[in-house]
Amino acid sequence: MHNKTIAELATVLQQGEVSSVELTQHFIDRIEKLDAGLNAFITVTPEAALQAAKAADARIKAGEAAPLTGVPIAHKDIFCTSGVRTSCGSRMLDNFVAPYDATVVERFRAAGAVMVGKTNMDEFAMGSSNETSFYGPVKNPWDTERVPGGSSGGSAAAVAARLAPGATGTDTGGSIRQPAALCGITGLKPTYGRVSRWGMIAFASSLDQGGPMARTAEDCAIMLGAMAGFDERDSTSIERPVDDYVGALNTDIAGLKIGLPKEYFGEGLDPDVARAIEAAIDEYKKLGAEVVEISLPNTHLAVPAYYVVAPAECSSNLSRFDGVRYGYRCEDPKDLVDLYTRSRGEGFGAEVKRRIMIGTYALSAGYYDAYYLKAQKIRRLISDDFRKAFEQVDVIMGPSSPSTAFKVGEKADDPVTMYLSDIYTIAANLAGLPGMSVPAGEVGGLPVGLQIIGNYFDEARLLNVAHRFQQVTDWHSHAPRGFE
Ligand code: GLN
Repeated sequence: MHNKTIAELATVLQQGEVSSVELTQHFIDRIEKLDAGLNAFITVTPEAALQAAKAADARIKAGEAAPLTGVPIAHKDIFCTSGVRTSCGSRMLDNFVAPYDATVVERFRAAGAVMVGKTNMDEFAMGSSNETSFYGPVKNPWDTERVPGGSSGGSAAAVAARLAPGATGTDTGGSIRQPAALCGITGLKPTYGRVSRWGMIAFASSLDQGGPMARTAEDCAIMLGAMAGFDERDSTSIERPVDDYVGALNTDIAGLKIGLPKEYFGEGLDPDVARAIEAAIDEYKKLGAEVVEISLPNTHLAVPAYYVVAPAECSSNLSRFDGVRYGYRCEDPKDLVDLYTRSRGEGFGAEVKRRIMIGTYALSAGYYDAYYLKAQKIRRLISDDFRKAFEQVDVIMGPSSPSTAFKVGEKADDPVTMYLSDIYTIAANLAGLPGMSVPAGEVGGLPVGLQIIGNYFDEARLLNVAHRFQQVTDWHSHAPRGFE
């Protein structure tokens, strides 16, 4: 049952071959048995899940099922869930129970999906390896000595290990695509503004975007259909109809123009990963696509610009955690300043503090123009690179990550090396473009992800392009050993 995709589960549920209660119990049992070795979940909610499953079964019986009705789903612990702890992977929010659901959570609930729990993540979504979580690192199910990627590493590991058929993630600089690549699953970061950020704990507000993580593009299409859409509670949400993502999956891709940026295949890319990506591109050629070499000349500025913009926004967003309103408060503060400093000092981990310090510095009078303003200008140059590229091609392809999953601890003490894990993903966030990662090969038994970047609001095409590939390859259906 756990090897079925969301699309297949929807069919067996609606045909009455299995009930949502049975299915939910099956996944809960798997989480209980297998998650101890992975640490993909921060919180598991079996009672609430079984209750929701019962309600879903009634809805299916009444003939009122939506595609996700009765399907178990996990949410990244960055999405507020009413009555269930939302920790954001931080000691700061270890005791925080939101009084409301995030819009994304609300929409899954309305569709009848069954939440089985909240997945582990890097603290406040800052990281590429899931090692910064207050709740300990997540292990990659393909090799538990290796990281699952981050920051949505818990979601990626849970889906890869078949502990949930789908999970939500968020992507500020690559946190859906990079862990999807490292765990051999499919993930989509939508266009900025496509999915509501309301109730999604803010890291860098101009970059953050929630999206689906599942085994197939078809499942991502089903999930995105439920998640996407205008939300008046999010001022950056875009009022624009949601496309029929599932309906577009089978569109013919003969004549599709694929751009390969030469900057994505240069130094720093593992040669075995490069070969796997080239083989994937060859599959696209067989499907009738045309390949064009392009250039995104400002690519080398993406990581440095991101590490000014993201920390600047995070230093402002995280100022709300003051030990007074909610979250962690230190014991016996001497006075107000002691309360602030010790609550933040004890509540935040090292990476979060590093970002707050960099961001505060970059925004301070005298440095604002030199750093923040300059980074914003670079952001425009990067968007222009993509704008020009999309005059020539329909999609851009390359690797999602420069290497396969690395060892736990390998990059933990070297922030700059860690930051370079997102060298191919960050530019799409700076420009606000949608991007996907699709399983496209294996190197030494570890998955490789193909990245597909599209033009604004071209999610339907990305999913179509990924689905066509998955019809002629089977990388997406490989399960890590021990989790089949
Ligand atoms: N790894 C990047 C960072 O640490 C991106 C994280 C993310 O997308 N949330 O900021």
